[in-house]
Amino acid sequence: MTTASEDGEPAVPIVCPECGTEARIPLGELADTLDRHNADRHDGAEVARVDPDVADSLADLVVADLGLLEDE
Ligand SMILES: [Zn+2]
Repeated sequence: MTTASEDGEPAVPIVCPECGTEARIPLGELADTLDRHNADRHDGAEVARVDPDVADSLADLVVADLGLLEDE
């Protein structure tokens, strides 16, 4: 069974210690959002990043998204 990822797409917490930004970004927009934030706010420096607490599990989320998507 395939579950569409449109609505159930996992949101990934990002943090930017330099400007205090915290946000949850849909996985499909993560790279673009981080790139844009860093380009706009920090002259392209890689300041904003995935919350370190969940970075380790991000790979698991991606794997889950391939076929075993669950909310939590
Ligand atoms: Zn920032």
